[in-house]
Amino acid sequence: MKKYILSLDQGTTSSRCIIFDISLGGVPISSASKEFKQIFPADGWVEHDPADILESQIYSAKEAIRRAGINVKEIAAIGITNQRETTIVWDKDTGAPVYNAIVWQCRRTATLCDELKSSELAESIRLKTGLIPDAYFSGTKIKWILDNVPSARENAEAGKLMFGTVDSWLMYNLTGGKTHATDYSNASRTMLFNINTLKWDKELLGLLDIPEVMMPSALPSASIFGYTDKALFGEEIPIAGVAGDQQAALFGQCCFNAGDAKNTYGTGGFMLMNTGEKPVFSQNGLLTTIAWGLDGKVNYALEGSVFICGAAIQWLRDGMKMFNYAYQSEELASSVPDCGGVYFVPAFVGLGAPYWDPYARGIIAGITRATTQGHIVRAVLESMAYQTYDVLKVMEAECGAKMSSLKVDGGASANNLLMQFQADVLDLPIVRPAFVETTALGAANLAALSIGLYSSVEDIAKASKIERTFAPQMSDELRQEKLSMWQKAVERSCGWTK
Ligand code: ADP
Repeated sequence: MKKYILSLDQGTTSSRCIIFDISLGGVPISSASKEFKQIFPADGWVEHDPADILESQIYSAKEAIRRAGINVKEIAAIGITNQRETTIVWDKDTGAPVYNAIVWQCRRTATLCDELKSSELAESIRLKTGLIPDAYFSGTKIKWILDNVPSARENAEAGKLMFGTVDSWLMYNLTGGKTHATDYSNASRTMLFNINTLKWDKELLGLLDIPEVMMPSALPSASIFGYTDKALFGEEIPIAGVAGDQQAALFGQCCFNAGDAKNTYGTGGFMLMNTGEKPVFSQNGLLTTIAWGLDGKVNYALEGSVFICGAAIQWLRDGMKMFNYAYQSEELASSVPDCGGVYFVPAFVGLGAPYWDPYARGIIAGITRATTQGHIVRAVLESMAYQTYDVLKVMEAECGAKMSSLKVDGGASANNLLMQFQADVLDLPIVRPAFVETTALGAANLAALSIGLYSSVEDIAKASKIERTFAPQMSDELRQEKLSMWQKAVERSCGWTK
């Protein structure tokens, strides 16, 4: 009877809800979404109104239920996945936020983070939290609120304030104030959670002057976090699965075992590799994070991001005016048999892993009189694959595992030419799922598992459907030649503005 999972996908620009029918193997039956306001109070600052986050999420849930035409009694559980690191502090009694949500992108605490990064504490922070001090993570954002909002610090110390990432904020409100909790994956992005002991770290809380009473209970990702207030949907529905967006996508891609990895080709690129039940601490600037807590065990992941991925296609479209729609990049790139010796390095904002060069800038190398638009577009698409190659090779080396395939999602994973080239340079099959909303699917599957609609992750894997697999076709010799030319181009781009 109860066979539906309501998956709430709270993103940076919109709140979405997808309803899955688990009896059919996790088929989406309806969805709805609502955008909300981005607030930019100062250069580099980004905020959301917590009421907007909540209202848009509840709207999309109710709308998805209406569109599905189902009875709320048939909803077995709710899964939540969310923009990570975004920080909200609210009053314990009234539930009113004391300040806007400080969004993960917000750079207001960058100076403090630079100090932490160059202090001797950096290594201890890395070994405890898996993170390199950065303004992204929640810790310094909470400190900023306590330092800058009148009376916030004294109220926090008196136990009158609560902190939460967006999952906690949603759960607190959906349960009528009964649940103040988060899951391990979200906790691991605060820079306050010890990923080895699975506890809030007293030393780090002390370092940032954050009272421990503010912190939510951290629970495994597949848990019963609480029940929705009956007034909301007319039924008390268990909230049974929670994970941060990238971790939810890893779960949604069925990367359940050590060595399994997924790459998301969005504006930026996000690669996560499951490293099993032990954290792997990177020597090359990758982050270590909790993938999920499930069945009394914790899975860890290595995370590497590429700053500019699909954004380079946006640049061709909007800056260079080479086409009107991103998908047209495939047609243009297909107008030539190969890159014609042209290599593009999208170092628009420097280079991240594994180069870590803020002085690098974009270059197009190897242009001749024969170079056409097709070659340039192709070189841009190929650069997305080379960057993915670079991150993946570091991950493989650091965790000592050899990947057998790479699962893909995100807007640019629709590009068949790019996916084929990715398979070729990695010499690995590239697997594109039938349902690419892997984030929402991952949260739904965690919830379904937690209430027993699935009995194991193997059941989930059996139900998952692949749309297409791209098998590598390139000769080893050609692959090595191309990779060495890419390396040469990267070297040319490095240190450019120094
Ligand atoms: P985000 O969630 O980061 O906004 P999406 O996953 O929606 O990103 O992907 C959008 C990005 O993918 C854009 O940068 C766009 O340029 C790129 N993109 C979308 N479709 C294609 C395509 N067919 N080929 C190449 N790039 C594409």
